[in-house]
Amino acid sequence: MTDAAGDDAVPTHCPYCALQCGMSLRRTADDPGVEVVERPEFPVNRGALCGKGRTAAAVLSSRVRLTGPLVRRSKDGPLEPAGWDEALGAVAAGLTAARAGHGPDAVGVFGGGGLTNEKAYALGKFARVVLGTSQIDYNGRFCMSSAAAGHQRAFGLDRGMPFPLADVARTGCVILVGSNLAETMPPALRYLTELRENGGTLIVVDPRRTRTAEQADLHLAPRPGTDLALALGLTHLVVARGRTDEEFVRERTTGWPAARAAVMAHWPEHVERVTGVPVPQLREAVRLFCDAPTGMVLTARGPEQQSKGTDTVGAWINLCLATGRAGRPLSGYGCLTGQGNGQGGREHGQKADQLPGYRKLTDPAAREHVARVWGVAPDSLPGPGRSAYELLDALGGDVRALLLMGSNPVVSAPRAAHIEGRLRSLDFLAVADVVLSETAALADVVLPVTQWAEETGTTTSLEGRVLLRRRALTPPPGVRTDLQLLHGLAALLGHEKGFPPDPEEVFDELRRASAGGPADYSGITYRRIAAEDGVFWPCPKEGHPGTPRLFLDRFATEDGRARFVPVVHRPAGEETDAEYPVLLTTGRVVAQYQSGAQTRRVAELNEAAPGPFVELHPRLAERVGVADGELLAVVSRRGRAVAPARVTDAIRADTVFMPFHWPGEGRANNLTNPALDPVSRMPEFKVCAVRLERAG
Ligand code: SF4
Repeated sequence: MTDAAGDDAVPTHCPYCALQCGMSLRRTADDPGVEVVERPEFPVNRGALCGKGRTAAAVLSSRVRLTGPLVRRSKDGPLEPAGWDEALGAVAAGLTAARAGHGPDAVGVFGGGGLTNEKAYALGKFARVVLGTSQIDYNGRFCMSSAAAGHQRAFGLDRGMPFPLADVARTGCVILVGSNLAETMPPALRYLTELRENGGTLIVVDPRRTRTAEQADLHLAPRPGTDLALALGLTHLVVARGRTDEEFVRERTTGWPAARAAVMAHWPEHVERVTGVPVPQLREAVRLFCDAPTGMVLTARGPEQQSKGTDTVGAWINLCLATGRAGRPLSGYGCLTGQGNGQGGREHGQKADQLPGYRKLTDPAAREHVARVWGVAPDSLPGPGRSAYELLDALGGDVRALLLMGSNPVVSAPRAAHIEGRLRSLDFLAVADVVLSETAALADVVLPVTQWAEETGTTTSLEGRVLLRRRALTPPPGVRTDLQLLHGLAALLGHEKGFPPDPEEVFDELRRASAGGPADYSGITYRRIAAEDGVFWPCPKEGHPGTPRLFLDRFATEDGRARFVPVVHRPAGEETDAEYPVLLTTGRVVAQYQSGAQTRRVAELNEAAPGPFVELHPRLAERVGVADGELLAVVSRRGRAVAPARVTDAIRADTVFMPFHWPGEGRANNLTNPALDPVSRMPEFKVCAVRLERAG
C-alpha cells in the first residue's frame, strides 16, 4: 500500500475517539515495531492528530500490555499465566455452569464502543445464538444513547451526524452544546475555526469556559442539568419574535402545535431563573441563529448524559425544526459521538434491544431476516435485555456470570464503587482486553487480545463514514483477536460453525444481515472502503454512492416528515440541598481517553495529565477554605473522591468539575448518579449534588 508517509506505510485510523483520524503506521526496528506518521490525504483530520493518536503505538509494546492469558485457579488466589486451551476451557465451564444452574439469562455479555463493527456483530450473535441470553449491552449506552433515542423519535433514523463534518465550516451559525472539542477531539476544532473565518458564528453552551468556549462569539454557561430549559427558552423566543419557518414546519414536519404550546411556558425570565443564563444572552443567541442563512445544533455528552437526555436532545431538535434548520443543505442537528466506534457499535447488535443493521429485536420481520442469515429459528432469538447500568447492577443477582469485552466499568460506570462490588460478587467473570485494566484485575479469566494495529476491521466514524483499519504488525504469539476468541469459545460451546475468525468474512455476513435495515451496509466492501477512504451508510447495494447527507428530500419516518416531540423542563435526578449544596459535572481532558486503561500506560500522556483534579471557582474555594493544589474531598450520596483543587474562574461558582479517567481515591464515578433516562436508559453522569470538604 503506497502512502505519502512512505511506500511501506500502512494507512489506518486512530484507535481512540469517534473522529477516527486517518494516520499511517511505518515499520521501525524499535519496540513496538511501528510508529505513527501523518496521513494528510484523509479528508477529515487532514494529517492532524492529537497527543493520544500520536502516541497510540506505545500501548502496542509488550512492556505495558497483556501477552498471554491469565487464570485465577482458586476463588481467592492470584491471576496466574495459563495457555489458551486452559483459559478458554475455564470460560466455557464458567458460562456453562451459570446457565445450567440458573438459565440462559444468568449469563451476561458486556461489550464496548471501541470494538470494530465485525466484533460488535459477532458478540451480539454469540450472545443470542450460542448463549441464548438476552442480557447483553455495552458501554456505548453511556456515550450516545440519548442522542440516538432523540434522533429516532424525531427523524426515524439515528446517524450521529447526518452530514459530513466539512459542512460545519460552511454553515452560517453553529450552536455547540456540551462539547469541549478542543480537548476531546482537537483536530475537529479546525472546522469551528474555519466556520468563523468563513463569516459564520459560533455559540457554545457549557457551564465551563473551556478552550472550545473561548473560541465562541457567544458563550452561554447554564447551570448543569438545565440545557433542556435553555433549548425551550430559545425556541420560545423564536416563536415570540416571529422567526418560525412556517413553510418548513408546514411542509416537512408534524406535531408543531403541541411542541409550540410546550415552549410557550418557558418565557425568558423563567428560563434565566432556571439556567442562570441572562435574558440578553438568550436574545442574542436567537438573533445570531436566526439571522444566519443556515445553522446547525451539535450536541455531545453535556446535554445527553442526563436523566432527561432524550428530551433535552428533543428540545434542541425542535429548535432546528422550528427554524427550518434541518433536512436542508448546511443545516441540521448532529450528535458528536465520542467513542472510537460509538456509531458502528450501536448499529450491529451488541445493544440490548437491537439486531444488526439497526433493526429492532421486537420487530418480527427483523427477527426473521436476521435469523435466516444466522441459520436459526426466529423464535430461538431472545427478546430485549437490560440496559448497561441495569445489567451491571444485576451482577451477582440473577446474572451470575459475565463475559466482558473492551470495557472498564470499574472506572467508567456511574456509582463505580457499587458496580465494582457487583463485579466482585459474580460467580464467574471473564474479561477480554489488551491491558490488565482495573476490571480485568477482578476477573477469573483474562483473555489478552490484539490491538488496532495488529488486526483488520471496520469502524464507523461520528460522520457515519465506514472506515477500514488495517493490520500493520504481527501480534505477540500469546494474544488472539476477539474474533478468534469467539470462534474458539463458540466451538467449545457446540457451535463449530457461524463464527469465522476472518474479519472480512464476518463483514460480508454483517452486510447480508444489515441489508434492508435502517443502517444498510450491504453495498460496502473492504475493497471499496480502501479505494474511497470510507463510505457513508446507508449504502444499500454495490455501486450505490453511499449517503454523506441524510434527510435532504425526506426524513426516515413513515410519512417522510420530521416529528416535533413536545417536551418540558424537569429537574435533575438529584438537586442541591443544605447537605449537598454544590453541583458536580464530569468529563474528559485532552491527554487521557475514557477510563484511561490505555492512555494511562503512555508516559507522555501521563506527564501531561498525571491524575484527577477538582476544578472550582475562586469564590467557592474561598468558602471551603481550600487553595489551588490542596487536597479536596468531594462527597455525594454514593461516595467520596479526593483530588487536588484546581482553582479557576472558568467555571460557574455553583459547580465543580472532575475528569473521570482515573481509579483509586480520585475516581470521579464514585460520586455520579445512576438516575436513568426513561427512554435511552442513559445514566446522569453530568450532574449530581455534592459537598466539599478540605482533605489535607
Ligand atoms: Fe485519535 Fe480522536 Fe485524537 Fe483523532 S482526535 S488522534 S481520533 S484521539
